[in-house]
Amino acid sequence: MSDERFIQYETEGAVATVTLDRPDARNAQHPPFLEQFDAALKQGAADRDVRVIVVKANGPHFSAGHDISPASAKHFKDVMDPSSGILSHYAWEQENYLEMTRRWRDLPKPTIAAVHGKCIAGGLMLCWPMDLIMASEDAMFSDPVLRMGVGGVEYHAHPWELGARKAKEFLFTGDFIDAQEAWRLGMVNHVVARDQLETKTYELAEKIAQMDPFALRMAKQSVNRTLDEMGQWNAMQAVFDMHHLAHAQSRILNQGNAIQGQTISSMKSAG
Ligand code: ZN
Repeated sequence: MSDERFIQYETEGAVATVTLDRPDARNAQHPPFLEQFDAALKQGAADRDVRVIVVKANGPHFSAGHDISPASAKHFKDVMDPSSGILSHYAWEQENYLEMTRRWRDLPKPTIAAVHGKCIAGGLMLCWPMDLIMASEDAMFSDPVLRMGVGGVEYHAHPWELGARKAKEFLFTGDFIDAQEAWRLGMVNHVVARDQLETKTYELAEKIAQMDPFALRMAKQSVNRTLDEMGQWNAMQAVFDMHHLAHAQSRILNQGNAIQGQTISSMKSAG
């Protein structure tokens, strides 16, 4: 197993920083990247001296989303078993794209994402579950996966983050919204100049780190539990099943094309 690092973890005083550090691939997420991200957040949660966790990114963009490049396919091959039908795909995404993301949302300490550049599809799953989001003026957000036949990324927080009507436009078009629009919709807490992003993020982190950790935890849980009482988690699980209905649809259509292609080529060879 490679010990290549895609995520950095460091602490200074009461603040831990988890840095997305795969800049050449625009912080695209393959299984090792996600494992390391999850491990770093767990480390921040376990570290007694840490009171606030900051998530930020190296490189020109926050994250290009799930890594669907051919080079990344080997990582997915290791975790998927095509002979199980849709089961291994469903189970892997359920753990890695749904349950794990929910655990990030419910980490026992406050989390702040500092987002710059583009944050696309799966990239949203690295900032939406955080408690607060600081965006720089150049931040842009989109979820264009409808073009790939599914109705949004697996962590379906869209209606909660954007409001139902904007969520539909966001999904139907796949268009970007910029930082100001994200702020207007309540999706991010603050928009700051690009060169101020780190300073402002750490100012906020230090301010929160002064508060009583137990009271912070209760405040965080109060909001998250309210969201769940409003049906957020149940809705996300139901939508995740629809997401896999869409994956199955794509698979059937692709097989249909393959069968049709075979038939055409056998017809040709038969003269
Ligand atoms: Zn999926």
